[in-house]
Amino acid sequence: MKVGIVAYQGSVEEHALMTYRAMKELGYQGEVVEVKLPEDLKDVDALIIPGGESTTIGIVAKRAGLLEPLTDKIREGTPVLGTCAGAIMLAKEVTDAKVGKRSQPLIGLMDVKVIRNYYGRQRESFEAEVDLASINEGRIHTVFIRAPAIVEVKGRAMALSKLDNVVVFAQQDNMIATTFHPELSNSTAIHKYLLRLAKA
Ligand code: GLN
Repeated sequence: MKVGIVAYQGSVEEHALMTYRAMKELGYQGEVVEVKLPEDLKDVDALIIPGGESTTIGIVAKRAGLLEPLTDKIREGTPVLGTCAGAIMLAKEVTDAKVGKRSQPLIGLMDVKVIRNYYGRQRESFEAEVDLASINEGRIHTVFIRAPAIVEVKGRAMALSKLDNVVVFAQQDNMIATTFHPELSNSTAIHKYLLRLAKA
């Protein structure tokens, strides 16, 4: 199994480490590769889009010619995990808590509405326990960093976890999105869930 991580910015290393840990726990053989250019998508069975700044990731991906082939690959069914800015990239509809709607390059395949920087200044970054009962896992202790919120889940998209009534984990078919950073938790639950989707 080959897992590609979009590697312009964000916690690429941490995602790679968690993916290797998850592979080991599941007994899967595989490797992790960095994805920066269209040719890096070759033979990739699952994808991770990490956190960072979604505007930057989108602009750089577009300039590198990656955005379109990446979108096609996900549309064709390759499992993908988008975390934080990565979740924003996957969303069909994005607004910013402060500046409202601005256009930014997106993958835009998940039928969800996301508000960037939802938690504002007071709670800009915080740690919380997220319940993963919906995927048969326990509670994980994780981090939210200038996190977005998934405020509407439509069509084929489903909410998998909520925190204080706000959706923090959602899925639509082959696409999973978290507004938190599972790579900065000590649980491989979300990474294992991605790998199982790729194996299915
Ligand atoms: N605030 C960032 C954005 O809007 C996301 C933050 C993150 O990925 N940690 O893109």
